Amino acid sequence: MQSPSIDIASQIKSQAASLGFDACGFAAAVPVDDDAVSRYDRWIEQGHHGCMQWAAGHRDLRRDPSMLLEGAQTVISLALNYYPARFQPPGTLRVAYYAYGRDYHEVLREKLTELAHFIEQITHCTTRPCVDSAPIRERYWAQQAGVGFIGLNNCLIIPGKGSFFFLGEIVTTAQLPPDEPCTMTCGECGKCVAACPTGAMNRHGAVDASRCLSCLLIENHDEQLPDWVGDVIGDRVVGCDECQLCCPHNAHATATTIEDFAPTPAVMSLTCERIGQMSGGDFKRTFAHSAISRLRYKTLRRNAAMIEKKNFTSNK
Ligand code: SF4
Ligand code: SF4
Repeated sequence: MQSPSIDIASQIKSQAASLGFDACGFAAAVPVDDDAVSRYDRWIEQGHHGCMQWAAGHRDLRRDPSMLLEGAQTVISLALNYYPARFQPPGTLRVAYYAYGRDYHEVLREKLTELAHFIEQITHCTTRPCVDSAPIRERYWAQQAGVGFIGLNNCLIIPGKGSFFFLGEIVTTAQLPPDEPCTMTCGECGKCVAACPTGAMNRHGAVDASRCLSCLLIENHDEQLPDWVGDVIGDRVVGCDECQLCCPHNAHATATTIEDFAPTPAVMSLTCERIGQMSGGDFKRTFAHSAISRLRYKTLRRNAAMIEKKNFTSNK
């Protein structure tokens, strides 16, 4: 006869699958290991978090999930595929795949909340769903929970599936049988380091966010971008996927079946001209339920203006 916790574990995993999650794993909610803590601390001390000031805060909470939920026993890591079934047409400004469709915070929060209710019902324990809403080391926990490994590009890579996945967690007081951590590594590949247009990555797996286009185009809200960005921005207006697109683990990525992640009409027709004509009100209405809303109106226009200026200069 199976033990009750194994039965509950498999019920949770099959409920996660029926909600559309592509992976679900459990890890014991113990403090983050010393190596991972010092790597993170070093990254902050070297200023490699760039303009993401929030990353330097709440380091005590990041170290210990039991500070996020009293009596926490398990961190449940979940992954949701967002690899597009359709892509932007030529001539549109490039948007990173994660921002193609409906805001993933909304989609993931709905699914995590539903799963958390299910867990509370069958375990009578408490839960705390997290989707960028709590300082938790989500890739670390995904690795601990056996979902995948952290690649040199700093993305969570699910063996056989790739890295175009949103991650979410449920911290719970339920004691669930932990999965084996994923021990795979990138080996000698290094393709992402070579593909990065800004040289933001190094061979030791540190990404300097102050040089990363994803960070500069999304998180940095300065009035002007540094001049050198004009030489590498190309047609990217929201984020950058280069270090994922080149990764061999994504060579056989399969398209998401979640209709919410399909590209919106605004993404499919995004041009410098369209952004130039957009008022603040248009921006709010157009991107109300899109992750692009987090960029802010002025930041989107700043990015588009730099692309336009660069194209104008290089076509002269
Ligand atoms: S997102 Fe782009 S700029 Fe940032 S590290 Fe990856 S390839 Fe480099
Ligand atoms: S491109 Fe190669 S080195 Fe980079 S994350 Fe993928 S497997 Fe790892």
